[in-house]
Amino acid sequence: MSYKTLLESPWRFDFPALCNFSNDKLTWLDSAATTQKPNMVIDCITQYYQQGCANIHRAQYPLATKITRGFENVRQKVADFLHAQSSDQLIFTRSTTESINLLAYGLESYLPNTGNIVISALEHHANLLPWQQLAKRKGLKLIVLPFTQEGIIDLEIAETLITNQTRLVAISQMSNVFGTLQPIKQIIELAKKFNALSVIDGAQGIVHHPTNVTQLNCDFYVFSGHKLFAPEGVGILYGKAGSLTKLNHWQFGGEMVQSADYETAQFYPAPLGFEAGTSAIGAVLGLGAAIDYLNAQNRTDITAHEQALIHQLLTGLLQRKSIHVLGNPHSSLVSFYIEGMHPSDISHLLAEQNIAIRAGQHCCMPLYQTLGLNGAIRVSLALYNNSADLQCFFDALDKAIELLT
Ligand code: PLP
Repeated sequence: MSYKTLLESPWRFDFPALCNFSNDKLTWLDSAATTQKPNMVIDCITQYYQQGCANIHRAQYPLATKITRGFENVRQKVADFLHAQSSDQLIFTRSTTESINLLAYGLESYLPNTGNIVISALEHHANLLPWQQLAKRKGLKLIVLPFTQEGIIDLEIAETLITNQTRLVAISQMSNVFGTLQPIKQIIELAKKFNALSVIDGAQGIVHHPTNVTQLNCDFYVFSGHKLFAPEGVGILYGKAGSLTKLNHWQFGGEMVQSADYETAQFYPAPLGFEAGTSAIGAVLGLGAAIDYLNAQNRTDITAHEQALIHQLLTGLLQRKSIHVLGNPHSSLVSFYIEGMHPSDISHLLAEQNIAIRAGQHCCMPLYQTLGLNGAIRVSLALYNNSADLQCFFDALDKAIELLT
């Protein structure tokens, strides 16, 4: 197939993994799982280890104070990136998953033993299982908000299910299956109306949509560095000042403790009190470089580029018979299935041509049960993709369909 408009990516050359022109060229269409890293991030990590690493918040020698300063500068960068009021509102964790688990354990004592926790039917396991298990431990009911045909949380039904019995609402900013943005602002407002805490899983949303947590007025917002062009091993938990004080400490060890004897201990408040042990220092510095990288780009141009690519992707999919797209994707990823063909067979044949896509249930088993599907194929894009990637994908897809027909 050919495209009327061939889209080049001006950002692609910043990503060395995608500029390897050997014969087995990688076609990376799995950015919702993790993103490739720009030179700025790779250079930052290399420099950190080449010029000397050190632990933070502990020692007085110059290298340690320099690294501590760099680490704390990243906290400020993340605060600015999210428009948080203070860097003290940002806790470094290891991932979105760890941030949500921290909340589910940290809020256990604060939450009462009656009422309900509300999530949606399209949540990733990371934003389902910690709440499901907390609900069991506390004897709370877990209420699941349904979604519309478009793959968007049904606001009308949400208005009837979020009530004065609701203690906490946890939903995604963007679905990792439907590629749809969720009505987080309205749901946060609904939660506020009943004094329920609100948690936003920004794992997918943060990459494609500039986010202002102060304007959103959510209690907590979480994301993972590795989906935002940073290394694995660093996650973020943002909390409103008054909401962070509701958290009980959950992991115990070095540097989170103010004073201790064999019987008792006093712990620091957030953020340090929630960063027990040695943090992923290199990864945090890498996150700082990823934010610098993004801040140096025109985010409006990136959004326009991704929108144009997603349009090409959808047009190409809908031109092929027997392909069904899930929901009404409008942001950077599309999931689909092909009648009569198993998603794993397709992904296996695409993998043979070095096309990186994801087949399966995308860590959303209950969602796929609701849809009555055994899985789907997900193509996810980022700023570095171009029309040639889509061309490779469609050529390989056509071959796979021909083989399986
Ligand atoms: N939430 C959503 C919406 C996701 O897409 C993902 C990962 O794909 C996660 C949470 C979990 O992220 P991590 O594995 O980085 O903790």
